[in-house]
Amino acid sequence: MNPRATIVPEYTFSTTGARLRRNRVKLARICCILLCMGTLSARATDETAGKTAQDPGTTRGLDWLAKNTSWITEQQIRLTEIPAPEFNETQRGLFLKQLFEAAGLQVRIDDIGDVIGERSGSDPQSVVLLAAHLDTVFPAGTDVHVKRSGPRLLAPGISDNGAGLATIVGVARALVESRIRTTKTIVFAGDVGEEGEGNLRGMRALVERYGSRLAAVIAVDGPSTDHITTQGIASRRIEVTITGPGGHSWSDFGSPNPITALSRGIVRFSAIRLLDSPRSSFNFGVIEGGQSVNSIPARAAVKVDLRSESEDQLTRLENALRDAMQAGGRDEASAARSNRDAVQVSFRSIGTRPAGVLPEDSALLQAIRDADRFLGNRSRLERSSTDANVPLSLGIPAVAIGGGGSGGGSHTLNEWYDPSGRDLGLQRLFLTAVGLAGIQP
Ligand SMILES: [Zn+2]
Repeated sequence: MNPRATIVPEYTFSTTGARLRRNRVKLARICCILLCMGTLSARATDETAGKTAQDPGTTRGLDWLAKNTSWITEQQIRLTEIPAPEFNETQRGLFLKQLFEAAGLQVRIDDIGDVIGERSGSDPQSVVLLAAHLDTVFPAGTDVHVKRSGPRLLAPGISDNGAGLATIVGVARALVESRIRTTKTIVFAGDVGEEGEGNLRGMRALVERYGSRLAAVIAVDGPSTDHITTQGIASRRIEVTITGPGGHSWSDFGSPNPITALSRGIVRFSAIRLLDSPRSSFNFGVIEGGQSVNSIPARAAVKVDLRSESEDQLTRLENALRDAMQAGGRDEASAARSNRDAVQVSFRSIGTRPAGVLPEDSALLQAIRDADRFLGNRSRLERSSTDANVPLSLGIPAVAIGGGGSGGGSHTLNEWYDPSGRDLGLQRLFLTAVGLAGIQP
């Protein structure tokens, strides 16, 4: 058993001071246990990690990555400068296809736009999948030209997920240079539909394609190497629409107004108090409606993102949202002077992400920890909502990790990426992939 995993829910996500203090005490106790156990488990796994790392092919691959970070960063810039709004990832996918082909992969693009490059192993029935999502949250027309400021690269999408895409391209090239033949087949994929309303459709298609052949799935998302996401947070995305009769702002005044009704519902729902644990969240992310300043709108809609560490809690949250928005509609109807029956509230699911957890004794987690130990990298376990949710929910070993370097401002126009030290993330993924896939003599 790995004691580090057991502390994740509390110390990574706690919010209250009291709990932080309690956890510090707990943490100190666990550190003592780790000190004792760490030496024992390190001996056992160092042997496997050492074998992979000492292979001359591995050395060639690691060296190539260390010496070619600038080339990898150049590819990241080229990928980032091709816009890839959700549902419109084709152009970026075509360039990724070229990069995969140049790395000797057998490449195909599936019906929905996933770019899939295979590197066959001796056992085609066993597959390690390295995936990075192609899409960004930024709509068409966003300026994605990459600017520089000191060591930093500035552009929407440069980290999320320019960093992930460039990292899998780098690792694919390093495998060519390493001349390693693996037992398992390694599949590289740029997948569509991770952000926004894509509903993880790219990853869903990949999991469907490879099914029971998947030995491990690694979603490479964003830059940092300080975490391993082993738990998928469940989320539900809902569009709430309120309609009314519409009308003229002066002559129809007193008729119900869907924007006001929506606002009443949002205020009601926002007043609910969430538990600290299991942790949950909600976000009213997009609101729209109305046609002119002097018209009573006939329709207004809001898109809501609900997340929770617990499926039960998520169901409660969704029910509370439905109740609050219905009540907002009723409040507006009862405040109206006419057309009171005309207010309609409806709900549409625009995305569901299932929850899942990677077992602590998984070979995948072990392989990443071996790589971390070899490279002297420290990382903590984390929970998040990523492409890894899909395989995790089906019991397929999966994680999400970063590709190296550092970054910030993701999902904003101020997004940045600093490639300094990115070789750590590249080598970490390379060692993990080779460790999992196994080297053929
Ligand atoms: Zn991402």
